[in-house]
Amino acid sequence: MTPAETAAYLDQILAPLHQRYRAVNDGDVATYIPELAKANPDHFGICLTTLDGTCHAFGDCDQEFTIQSISKPLVYGIALAALGREGVHKKVGVEPTGDAFNAIILDEKTRRPFNPMVNAGAIATAALVPGKTLAERKESVLATFSAAAGRRLSVDQKVYESELETGHRNRAIAHLMLNFGMIEGDVTEILDLYFMQCSILVNCRDLAMIGATLANVGTNPVTHEHVFDTAAVQDVLSVMFTCGMYDYAGEWAVRVGIPAKSGVAGGILAVINRQFGIGTYSPRLDAQGNSLRGIKACADLADELGLHAFNFMNSGSQFMKSVL
Ligand code: GLU
Repeated sequence: MTPAETAAYLDQILAPLHQRYRAVNDGDVATYIPELAKANPDHFGICLTTLDGTCHAFGDCDQEFTIQSISKPLVYGIALAALGREGVHKKVGVEPTGDAFNAIILDEKTRRPFNPMVNAGAIATAALVPGKTLAERKESVLATFSAAAGRRLSVDQKVYESELETGHRNRAIAHLMLNFGMIEGDVTEILDLYFMQCSILVNCRDLAMIGATLANVGTNPVTHEHVFDTAAVQDVLSVMFTCGMYDYAGEWAVRVGIPAKSGVAGGILAVINRQFGIGTYSPRLDAQGNSLRGIKACADLADELGLHAFNFMNSGSQFMKSVL
């Protein structure tokens, strides 16, 4: 297929897919952070960006929302670049957990949080972001996300303040980790950075470009800026694959089979290694806290394009061609 034919083919798949789920009105907008409750439940966007920088956008792809938990794998990438795998693993593991994302629980043997995708692990990861001052660390996170998205991003001050006001559970988790030496330094500052990273505003186009940057082994395909450490990208995608979708992570791995991360504001970031990034947004969440329309759209897309990591059309394609 020529690039133009590929682009037309992707549009033919994506347009009806967006149409198919735009009227699904199940699921509820998150309310536990009061500012998130103000989201418009009708918004729905899906965007796919290929490694030549072509963006296929359908629906509300310019609508901004807070990145929330989708920030976790990106900050994990920053920590890995700074300290390496072994350095980071002293403070946060990589084991999936069946517990809720905000569970106040650490591994009994190691005292580490289980993985960087649950809040405990994400707070421990935020504590590893290098920088002399809190302002420097905040700018480093915002600058990294911006470089991956290919445009300067900003923070939703109202959501940030709402997180600060209501984040008592995260404070409890942080203090538990302080007790066990899993985080060091000023807890208030570490939490401040965590709340800020969750409050960064993105749209579907940004998520798809961030995904394309990860798919392109850490280099933004349009600006050509090297954003994420090459070795770190492999680890980031691995934890997204095993732990990225809350308590649905195992089922997601079986049914959809691609590295992804969702956030409570309704975003999903998915990555097809060496091919493209996907960003979806719909704030109606299912019982596991994942975007309901986003999950359905990604599952169909994976089926229609044969994206599952273990789909026979992927790694086995040469073999299949030879036997079919
Ligand atoms: N700000 C959120 C929290 O820590 C992130 C939640 C999420 O997206 O899972 O509660």
